Amino acid sequence: MNLVLVVNAGSSSLKYQLLNMDDESVLAKGNCDRIGIDGHVSHKVPSRDYVFEQDCPFPTHTEAFEKLVEVLTTGDGKVIDSMSEISAVGHRIVQGAEVFDKACLVTEEVIDKIDALSELAPVHNHPHALALRACTKVLPKGTPQVVVFDTAFHQTMPPKAYMFGLPYEDYKELHVRKYGFHGTSHRFVSQSLAEAMGKDVKDLKIVSCHLGNGSSITAVDGGKSVDTSMGFTPLDGIIMGTRSGAVDPSAVTYVMEKHGFTPHEMSQYMNKKSGFLGLSKISSDNRDIQNACLEGNELAILTSDMLQYQIKKYIGSYAAAMNGIDAVLFTGGIGENSWEVREAVCENMEYFGIKIDKELNRSIRGKLRKISTPDARVEVWVVPTNEELLIARDTLAVIGK
Ligand code: AMP
Repeated sequence: MNLVLVVNAGSSSLKYQLLNMDDESVLAKGNCDRIGIDGHVSHKVPSRDYVFEQDCPFPTHTEAFEKLVEVLTTGDGKVIDSMSEISAVGHRIVQGAEVFDKACLVTEEVIDKIDALSELAPVHNHPHALALRACTKVLPKGTPQVVVFDTAFHQTMPPKAYMFGLPYEDYKELHVRKYGFHGTSHRFVSQSLAEAMGKDVKDLKIVSCHLGNGSSITAVDGGKSVDTSMGFTPLDGIIMGTRSGAVDPSAVTYVMEKHGFTPHEMSQYMNKKSGFLGLSKISSDNRDIQNACLEGNELAILTSDMLQYQIKKYIGSYAAAMNGIDAVLFTGGIGENSWEVREAVCENMEYFGIKIDKELNRSIRGKLRKISTPDARVEVWVVPTNEELLIARDTLAVIGK
């Protein structure tokens, strides 16, 4: 068996999936959570409907990784005899900046470079480096590890798309620019879509709408990202569960001053207390917003209208940027499941050649499926994302398997 362990590490969690790449099935998945707080492991073996939960102390990422090894190799949830059966480990890394434009093998130098980028992604990159060091310590010597970056796919954007109108030295010295995120997902779904359409991705202009708790929209021209809605950080773009999306920078400094916020407090305000949650006062979850809309809640209707309007505007602007579009795709928790959002976004878009089969759209949830009408100039699709699978595929490609 060709086994790849995919790791997605945060500051207090270590999510994992063990994939059998012979048939791309998931052997086990779970999360070692609450690292540095107390500790909890949740381990699942989908083929046996097996679920294991345990509280256990994780002072650091090393103890969490040791537990991950234990649940994979011992007890009722065991799926392998030893970690030496694993061909490689693939790590999801949020920020690769301009240093990494593709996946690569992990070395000490690579870990140091990822850690050095922590200033650009303080919540993510340092924990990634901690997990990489823990993994290196715990894994059998010589197990290849690969890092796959959320930003790498967007490194093909031209400067006119990624630069901000700030003084040039802020780019040169502080590395302030649009990086874009969700790159692994946008790459995976645009490839899947091309295959489903029976076309080469190189011949397609796609607007990829990844709509979830975090949302980003990307213009994919010939398989390459040419523009994307998230920016220097994943806060930019459209409104999200708890993130504001784009706000006039003067409004940011004004609100900061009026509330007496420090820069950190303002960042927390826009990242954790805004978006669906802050606007609707109901929830950060799209399902709750949709339900409140049905009950006539005005703030929920406003939130929902804003989301749909902002997505529409991105589709329009990316059609202009790419001189037309061949397909629009919806992915992520909202994109794959919410027919309401898809229907509202595609309403009154005939000018762009977008027309969906409403009845069909209402019946599609989490399935790869075309939802546009046969006569529509632009195809509209629902395309399920699977970032872990693409990380595992990239990992095998880097180690040459
Ligand atoms: P993600 O971050 O991709 O897991 O997406 C989470 C978002 O997807 C949340 O806002 C959920 O409310 C939304 N979502 C998940 N399932 C559904 C559904 N059946 N209908 C509407 N929204 C959904």
